Amino acid sequence: MGRLILVVLGKQGAGKGTQCKRLAERYSIPHVSTGDMLRAAVKAGTPVGRDVAAVLEAGELVSDDLVNRLVEERFAQSDAAAGALLDGFPRTFAQAEALETILGEDGVKLCVNLDVPVELVAQRLSARRVCVECGAIYTDTDPEAVSGRCSVCGGSVVQRADDRPEAIRSRLEAYERDTAPLLDFYRDRDLLVSVDGARAPDEVTAAIVAVIDERFAS
Ligand code: AMP
Repeated sequence: MGRLILVVLGKQGAGKGTQCKRLAERYSIPHVSTGDMLRAAVKAGTPVGRDVAAVLEAGELVSDDLVNRLVEERFAQSDAAAGALLDGFPRTFAQAEALETILGEDGVKLCVNLDVPVELVAQRLSARRVCVECGAIYTDTDPEAVSGRCSVCGGSVVQRADDRPEAIRSRLEAYERDTAPLLDFYRDRDLLVSVDGARAPDEVTAAIVAVIDERFAS
């Protein structure tokens, strides 16, 4: 199947993280989430983390240069030789262009757009809870969210600061303004496939797997 570089696009709360975790396991390629990388930097208190903490909390985008650099460094690691599932990157035209430069000839093979109406993502985001240690994703009624304890790793389950109403609004605005135009960027390159992401996670996974397996029959 060659180097399998997949971009997963979709509004915040469309299910990118959930689907990328499953697909990464199925195809044995790393899940590269710039949001997870930035949150880890904030948590670790690195210089980058200190620079971006307030931006993340407000739900704004961090600079293209910084994110492009993080992704370039990530692609230099050996596990990305087999491919990668890109979650939350690219998010702007400048990032999509930078990604083409980073990857060169052997570029993005497919862009999956997880299509979910804005009312549903807003509802999902306000109910979302996450494990601060392993990133497992829950909803507010799951026992892990009620007890505050992750059943995967025992870490604390919390609401992300940017899943509060104010930040949700600015993140969805940033999506419409900066990221939605990337659908055309990938459509123009014949790489775009849209999948109905409003269904149950298992059904969405099955739909994406069907597309990947059909296009890249091993
Ligand atoms: P996410 O987990 O993908 O929703 O990302 C969380 C936050 O990290 C975003 O609201 C941005 O502040 C920042 N972020 C993540 N990926 C990017 C990116 N590709 N470009 C700019 N900012 C990003």
